[in-house]
Amino acid sequence: MADVISGAVRQTFDPRFDSLVPGIAQLYRLTSGCLWAEGPVYRADVDLLIWSDIPNNRMLCHQHGHTFTFRSPSNYSNGNTKDNYGRLVSCEHGGRRVTRTEADGSITVLADSYQGKHLNSPNDVVVKSDGSIWFTDPSYGILTDYEGYRAEPEQEGCFVFRLDVDGTLTVVADDFVKPNGLAFSPDERYLYVADSGRSHDDNAPHHLRWFEVNGDKLGKGDVLTDVSPGVPDGFRVDVDGNLWVGAGDGVHCYDATGQLLGKILVPEITANVTFGGTRNTTLFMTATTSVYAMKLAIAGAR
Ligand code: MG
Repeated sequence: MADVISGAVRQTFDPRFDSLVPGIAQLYRLTSGCLWAEGPVYRADVDLLIWSDIPNNRMLCHQHGHTFTFRSPSNYSNGNTKDNYGRLVSCEHGGRRVTRTEADGSITVLADSYQGKHLNSPNDVVVKSDGSIWFTDPSYGILTDYEGYRAEPEQEGCFVFRLDVDGTLTVVADDFVKPNGLAFSPDERYLYVADSGRSHDDNAPHHLRWFEVNGDKLGKGDVLTDVSPGVPDGFRVDVDGNLWVGAGDGVHCYDATGQLLGKILVPEITANVTFGGTRNTTLFMTATTSVYAMKLAIAGAR
C-alpha cells in the first residue's frame, strides 16, 4: 500500500509553480526497501514502472499496487529509458555498457567501448526522435565495488556520447567532471546535461548545462543553473519545457531559463524522476530507499 507523506511536501519560489503543483497535491511512497533507487521508466501500455536498485544489483517494478523483481542480477543497472518502439534501454555499471531489452526478453548490447577501450560506467540515457541514443559515462560505477566492479578507467575522461542508429558512437561533450542525467527540450532544440562532480569533490560542479542541438552537433553548453543542496542527478522535462530535477532535498522545478519555480520536498535524497500514469501527469521519484509519486497539474514531454 502507498503511504501518504504528511507535512510540507512542496515549496513555492515563483507563483507559476502553483499551477504545476497544486497546494492540495499529495506525495506518497509507493514502495521501499531499496539501497539506491535510480533510473525510473514508465510503460503506459501495461501501467508498469521499472527502476534500478543499483547496490542490490537488481531492477524492480511496480504494477497495480505491488512491487516485483524485474531483473536480478541486473549488471548493476542505473538509468533506463524507452526507445521509439517502446523497448527498454538500460545503462549498466557492471557490464560498462548500454543495452536494449528486446520483446522476447533477450538483451542486445548497443555500446560497451569507445575507440577500443571499455566505457567507464554508463549512467543515464535518453532517445531522440531520430532514434539516436544519447548517454553519459561518468566513473561512479567503477570507483568502488558498491554499485559495480571497481576498475581503472580506460577512457580519458567522463564523456557524453551519441550512438547513431547505424551503431556509430561519437563523443558530443568532453568537458564534464561527472556527466549524469540528461534530457532534451520538448522540441529537441536543446539538450540539458547535469554535472554532479561535487559528489566526490567539493570544488567540482553541481549544475545543469544547456546545449543547442545543431543536427548531430552540440553548442558550447553554458551553465543553466547550479543545483543545491546535494547535486543534480536525473531529470525530466514537462510539455512546457520545465525541468524536474532530482536533488538533495527532493525534486527541483526550473523553467527553461534556469529560474527555480519550486520544490517537491521528498524525505530522502532523490536520484531521478520520470513521468507516467494514464495522462502522463504522475511524477515518479526514485529516492534512496524508496519510490515516491505525486500527481501534477502538467504532463511530461513524450
Ligand atoms: Mg544518474
